[in-house]
Amino acid sequence: MAEHGSNGTPLVRGAIEQEGQLPTVENTIIIGSGPSGWTAGLYTARANLNPLLITGNDFGGQVSITYEVENYPGFPEGLSGPELVDRMKVQAEKFGLRVEYDHVTEIVVDRHPFLVRTANGQEYAAKSLILCTGASPRYLNVPGEKELTGKGVSYCATCDGFFFRGKDVIVVGGGDSAVEEGLFLTKFASRVRIVHRRDQLRASKILQTRAFANDKLDFVWNKVVTAIHHGEDGKVSGVSIEDTVTGEKGELKTDGVFIFVGHVPNNALYHGKFDLDEDGHLIADTRMRTNIPGIFAAGEIMDKVFKQVATSVGQGCAAAMQAEKFLAELDSEGYEGVQHDPRRWPKPGQQPLELAAHGPEVRGWE
Ligand SMILES: Cc1cc2nc3c(=O)[nH]c(=O)nc-3n(C[C@H](O)[C@H](O)[C@H](O)COP(=O)(O)OP(=O)(O)OC[C@H]3O[C@@H](n4cnc5c(N)ncnc54)[C@H](O)[C@@H]3O)c2cc1C
Repeated sequence: MAEHGSNGTPLVRGAIEQEGQLPTVENTIIIGSGPSGWTAGLYTARANLNPLLITGNDFGGQVSITYEVENYPGFPEGLSGPELVDRMKVQAEKFGLRVEYDHVTEIVVDRHPFLVRTANGQEYAAKSLILCTGASPRYLNVPGEKELTGKGVSYCATCDGFFFRGKDVIVVGGGDSAVEEGLFLTKFASRVRIVHRRDQLRASKILQTRAFANDKLDFVWNKVVTAIHHGEDGKVSGVSIEDTVTGEKGELKTDGVFIFVGHVPNNALYHGKFDLDEDGHLIADTRMRTNIPGIFAAGEIMDKVFKQVATSVGQGCAAAMQAEKFLAELDSEGYEGVQHDPRRWPKPGQQPLELAAHGPEVRGWE
């Protein structure tokens, strides 16, 4: 007969027992507090799974650094990213989602229940995981960028725009984020120049129309930033640029550099454990299943195509529904049964993960 924790779930036996700790086995732990994480939290909470969400260092994820979200259905007037995150959190907590302000440093997936370790020194066990770790800004990787971050180099106009009141700034990039944030910066800066490597924008037409109509916004076409410089005060004073067509080099004087050149998936936890695509996204099937039974993925950590709040929310919902289904099957069949579920998704030419490989650490719920 298994021992039970305060929430009625069995206590883990295994590696952590040796350390004298017996954490309660959570039904599901959601990692990440972006839109997909909150949605997974809402659905699993409403399914009475008593879920736990671990926020990560970037509370609210990318949307929380977004000045205005106009394309999330149900909010015709638009709303700020932080407000949207707050509403998602309140709604999920209303149904019982528990939230930990912590950052996951390791997940152990070659045993079940899985283990989750955090920067605050916590160790959790969970029957299922929903990975919602999203993406982070891509760096230019040019001299001066790292040293001057926080001293004029920024990846968040909403956070830092205020500090550039009456100043000159450049924005690097040509997609939706670059144009949207460039437009936002015109509220503070005296001049905003968008430096783009091509001669046309990738941004949506509606944003382009607004950008071209804005007097404070200019474009520097066919240029890449090759270095960021500082003045005697240690703050950004200008950038070196290079023409992508002619190779001609030049300088731009400016007080701030806002960089929006794409994102990279936050996959540090997954290397060597999960199937990743060539860009480092988790590979999940249409039911959000990763290659490890009981572990699901949602949002930009697995989606490199759509990358929107609305799509991340949809994926979070789907992952939660799958986790609920997995837990129901686990209850009746044990982890062994679930592992050998013929509906599971083996990679082409591969057998499903062998339960035997996990040996005695794999536990049922007897
Ligand atoms: C400037 C900007 C403007 C945007 N504007 C819009 C818009 O107007 N409309 C729109 O639809 N989309 C917009 N987007 C895109 C949208 O924000 C993203 O698609 C969405 O946030 C992705 O959600 P996500 O759930 O995948 O996670 P993310 O938002 O990427 O969040 C990832 C979460 O994972 C957490 N995390 C990472 N690693 C760990 C770890 N080891 N342990 C614990 N937690 C971890 C982070 O703390 C974070 O909370 C914008 C993005 C940016 C950057």
